[in-house]
Amino acid sequence: MAAKTHLFNCLSDNFGALIHDPQTGATASIDAPEAAAVEAALAATGWMLTDILVTHHHNDHTAGVAELKRKHKCRVVGPRSDQFKGVDETIGEGGTVKVGSLTARVLETPGHTLDHICYIFDSEKIAFLADTLFSAGCGRVIEGAMPQMWHSLLKLRALPDDMAFHCGHEYTQANIKFALTIEPDNPDLKARAREADALRAAGKPTLPSTIGAEKKFNCFLRADVPSVAAAVGLAGKSAEEVFAEIRMRKNKF
Ligand SMILES: [Zn+2]
Repeated sequence: MAAKTHLFNCLSDNFGALIHDPQTGATASIDAPEAAAVEAALAATGWMLTDILVTHHHNDHTAGVAELKRKHKCRVVGPRSDQFKGVDETIGEGGTVKVGSLTARVLETPGHTLDHICYIFDSEKIAFLADTLFSAGCGRVIEGAMPQMWHSLLKLRALPDDMAFHCGHEYTQANIKFALTIEPDNPDLKARAREADALRAAGKPTLPSTIGAEKKFNCFLRADVPSVAAAVGLAGKSAEEVFAEIRMRKNKF
């Protein structure tokens, strides 16, 4: 039986996400931005929390972990981190974690933070990329270096085109507004803009997206496309340099 996912809003613009294995009843919360919102999602679905999969130490991803663990006696899996110590089992690149009968593979994607990891459920074709890849955008490079973040994004770009993904924030419309300053004539970006506007107008999330779709319109995944390099005045320069320029422009946007 295929996994079920449940996406919900929390804090100001965070996404919460549950993944549920109907076969065993196991349910994981991807991060725990706030305990009350995760509790409400569990009540709405009728699922029992067995695991929390932490992606990185930021408070808007971990603030609810301790309270949920106390209440549900769930297991907390997460990265080796100097900042967040509330993890029972640490996991790193190439490691796997079971949620009931489901298996997630872990990719380390440093850049936004140094401890950032992503969870890839290959057989379910769903990935949880938190603050590394957003739809039409990517996370701010806070702790890592720009080339490091680019190489983390390349790992995600190498996932299958039909891999769906969720991320940590509903930033899609703002990301598209910026992306249009880099690629104003990209037809896939313009189509995504119309789609995102319609979804938000209907009160719906713009996620999940897919890796294949993002390759066509997410300028942060397109730093090695010659027309994108030319658009930021860096024709012939390395993808790392082009990525850094785009990311710096976004910081100031
Ligand atoms: Zn973050």
